[in-house]
Amino acid sequence: MSDYDFDLFVIGAGSGGVRASRVAAAHGARVAVAEEFRVGGTCVIRGCVPKKLLIYGAHFAEDLKDARRFGWNVPDCGFEWTTLRDNVLHDVDRLEGLYKNTLENHKVELIAERTTITGPHSVKLASGREISAKVILVATGAWPIIPEVEGAEHGITSNEVFHLDECPGRIVIVGGGYIANEFAGIFHQFGSHVTMVNRGGTLLRGYDETVRDRLLQISMMKGINFRFNAKMEKIEKNGDGTLCVRFADGDPVAADLVLFATGRRPHTEGLGLETAGVELNEKGAIKVDEYSRSSCESIYAVGDVTDRLQLTPVAIREGHAFADTVFGDNKRKVDYGCVPSAVFSHPPLAGVGMTEAEARNKLGTVKIYTSDFRPMKNVLAGRDERALYKMIVDATTDKVVGLHMIGPDAPEILQAAAVAVKAGLTKQDFDDTVALHPSMAEELVLLK
Ligand code: NDP
Repeated sequence: MSDYDFDLFVIGAGSGGVRASRVAAAHGARVAVAEEFRVGGTCVIRGCVPKKLLIYGAHFAEDLKDARRFGWNVPDCGFEWTTLRDNVLHDVDRLEGLYKNTLENHKVELIAERTTITGPHSVKLASGREISAKVILVATGAWPIIPEVEGAEHGITSNEVFHLDECPGRIVIVGGGYIANEFAGIFHQFGSHVTMVNRGGTLLRGYDETVRDRLLQISMMKGINFRFNAKMEKIEKNGDGTLCVRFADGDPVAADLVLFATGRRPHTEGLGLETAGVELNEKGAIKVDEYSRSSCESIYAVGDVTDRLQLTPVAIREGHAFADTVFGDNKRKVDYGCVPSAVFSHPPLAGVGMTEAEARNKLGTVKIYTSDFRPMKNVLAGRDERALYKMIVDATTDKVVGLHMIGPDAPEILQAAAVAVKAGLTKQDFDDTVALHPSMAEELVLLK
């Protein structure tokens, strides 16, 4: 038994914090986790999970339309936002309950209070209670950034979007990244008039260019509007509650809702990190070593607050590796190579490994294989939407170094294919695998 109140005190009960708490407790540590909002963090409460459920809900718009071409007599269907919203929020409650059970079953003490660090081994709760711990883990995630623009207070972020009273007739989405593209697809399918406002000329920076271009082309074809290289000047609120977004150049855009999806900042402000000498980087993220240890020996950090890769499964791995290293006598690092990711846009896109541009820069000679096809279901449905798969191969070794795709179920297909890329398989290995016919995924083993 140490002299501290707890062996581990975790700040933040999101994906990384909960995993670290439960694994450390299973290793025998006495653990407390403090959470100022709800257990589950961004992913469960206001991110991946409710977003994915909205994506499913949105997909019915096209499915119902397509069903007619498959012989179904589908009457004109109306969409009721409040039904979907309430069912989604109900499921979020259910999942939060499961997360709480997990903590309870592992005898982790859950403290529903904001906490600040007061030294290398001490924290203070909002209620004034002071607690000591041998190790402190910061897993406070990230928070939406709102650009400095006059009238920004009239806009919302992804934190609020799941709770809207009604579906907006016209929505302006600021940003061109993950959240912007996902919600553009969602609201478009719900019947909103969507305008995406991007400060630059590129969507989804970091993804393969060909795949990004295809998303832009399909989004435009569906009727989503884009304003590129747009400098927003202000957002005005009219007497009737509607909004007007003004730009340095070009016409203003009228809207019922403005959604900021302009990145997320590590949540480190006001945490008292300076009292323990925890260093931050230029983005305000906690600087950590490969074992997630900060510049203070007894303080660690995992997940979005460290701004390594802002992805839930990465935070979970970091939390797990931290707990094994510090409490399980099993020192291990997270492998950040070949992490697959997806954008649940409409259609979705997914990728693993290097993009074509990265591969050309790093490897010099690469071979590119693509399949640009219209999925069978789209053909019968009369939907002129093509899928695109792209494989990047190291010309010297024949190793597949990147795989990028856009089309129906791309994230589901890519997760399986990512195993092969991560394992370092070659183009020949893909070719040697017999196609599973008829499927979209078979394109991966038929690339010429
Ligand atoms: P992203 O980093 O994906 O995109 C931010 C977008 O906002 C970019 O287009 C960026 O433009 C633009 N932007 C940044 N600052 C400003 C500004 N001041 N004014 C105008 N535009 C600006 O952030 P998101 O908010 O979409 O998502 C946050 C993170 O959450 C993602 O990076 C991702 O890691 C994670 N996430 C993952 C999801 C998934 O796995 N499917 C889903 C949702 C979120 P520019 O390109 O010019 O910098």
